Amino acid sequence: MHLRLASKTLDELVFDNRFTRELPADPDETNRPRQVFGACFSRVQPAKVRAPSLVAHSAEVTQELGLSSDTAQSEDFVQVFSGNRVLQAMDPHATCYGGHQFGHWAGQLGDGRAINLGDVVGEGGARLTLQLKGAGPTPYSRSADGLAVLRSSVREFLCSEAMFHLRVPTTRALSLVLTGEEVMRDMFYDGHPALEPGAIVCRVAPSFTRFGNFEIFTSRGEIDVLRKLADYTIRNDFPHLGEPSKETYLACFEEVCRKTAELIVDWLRVGFVHGVMNTDNMSILGLTIDYGPYGWLDDFDLDWTPNTTDASGRRYRFGHQSSIAMWNLVQLANAIHPLIEDIPAIQAGLEVYTKTFEKAWPAMMASKLGFESYRKEPDGESFAELQRLLRLVETDMTIFYRRLATVAADASEPDDDVGDDVLLEPLMDAFYTPDVLTAEHRQRWALWLRAYRARLREDAVSGTVRRERMDAVNPKYVLRNYMAQLATDKAEEGDHSLVQELLDVLRHPYAEQHGKEEHAQKRPDWARDRAGCSMLSCSS
Ligand code: AMP
Ligand code: MG
Repeated sequence: MHLRLASKTLDELVFDNRFTRELPADPDETNRPRQVFGACFSRVQPAKVRAPSLVAHSAEVTQELGLSSDTAQSEDFVQVFSGNRVLQAMDPHATCYGGHQFGHWAGQLGDGRAINLGDVVGEGGARLTLQLKGAGPTPYSRSADGLAVLRSSVREFLCSEAMFHLRVPTTRALSLVLTGEEVMRDMFYDGHPALEPGAIVCRVAPSFTRFGNFEIFTSRGEIDVLRKLADYTIRNDFPHLGEPSKETYLACFEEVCRKTAELIVDWLRVGFVHGVMNTDNMSILGLTIDYGPYGWLDDFDLDWTPNTTDASGRRYRFGHQSSIAMWNLVQLANAIHPLIEDIPAIQAGLEVYTKTFEKAWPAMMASKLGFESYRKEPDGESFAELQRLLRLVETDMTIFYRRLATVAADASEPDDDVGDDVLLEPLMDAFYTPDVLTAEHRQRWALWLRAYRARLREDAVSGTVRRERMDAVNPKYVLRNYMAQLATDKAEEGDHSLVQELLDVLRHPYAEQHGKEEHAQKRPDWARDRAGCSMLSCSS
């Protein structure tokens, strides 16, 4: 392969702003909050900020855009990605969308604090939309300020890059800048607002279109605009499907269903809880989008939600994400129905979600356990019992799967000779307080492990190869909630080193990385109930 060194300056970037060129625009170009009718977007300028400075940038995204690493270190870069300098070829705008929030139709939402700068033709020829998050008010800001704070921006910047390296579909993050200004936030909506450092992340994705972008037009009966958006989406985001028609709308919907199922399976694989799976936070490309009060499982708990706003209903809990994705797809189905008007066909499209999930989830679980492939007998029952076992006592999901890869299953070690405690030994690291394991717990674990070892032997794969395969799907390094909080604490004091270090470590989540083990530890006790570590709100 011929490796080309990215070399462009910002002014040399090539923009091809198809979204704003091809879709209906709002004639009003002010940022006055309002309902916007008959348009897919509103042109709006980013707010100027006082003293922007770079906290970190992603070398991979910089490269993908074709920018040189010198450019990423330049003052110009900071000025552009803080919104202070709009390049001539950009066409800044905020998109109009609606959404179902927590199960209820919420009407118009839109990019309230995201401004798309334009679509860059990247190194590979594909177009990538650049989007500033936190660059000031837009017509969709409603009563809010359009700004973002450092805490939530560190979380978004690090997590989107971490997800990419975990091979989980996601929007990317190019840069994280401080604005040099302060923003007032009531972090827990409890009447204690405080000033926090303002920040802006530049997000990058082939498309930021959400389910809600379609829903808004159907809800208003603006079917002509709905059709324009659908046609645009097929031509630009699903070009392999052919020219827009009823058939391609359906094929597109099926693909969204398939990609969404694959996305959820990936979240379940790595222990990610999105936290706010409203339909306005669902990407039609099946990307993880809008990192807000998301969280990573420390101890395995299907009922866990990081989002305090969701604490009572737990609608968006870890183990409920697949049902919610389906619920959201039903809303998308309703939204595109006027274009297709064939309920059985749309229902068949929805089944693609179920079928994909039902195939991909067991296959994913089999890969996590190191099996060559999924076999309903005996794997189905084994997975179910494992999910029960992982909840007997607090058990760290990430560490558990890495340790499981070290369980010996060689024929030279007959089960009969191995006592329960010896069998369990490799897993002890995964338990938060091993002392609370009772004799009965140990027996149940040992029973499961004996069956597991027997199952491994049926595959005739060497222990070394199995471990390599398991370690390639079970990450060692994930962005535990407390880690992002520590990086934020330091960054708030002006020390950006931990943001950089985590960015580097999370580039190789599946590798051992000697000397970096401190970033692969169980959640420390102090983080159990600390704000930002175990409890997060939508305030950001
Ligand atoms: P979320 O649930 O965080 O994805 O946000 C839901 C809606 O609220 C979206 O339309 C956002 O653009 C908007 N929003 C969230 N925070 C702000 C903010 N600080 N200023 C303006 N709009 C916001
Ligand atoms: Mg959102």
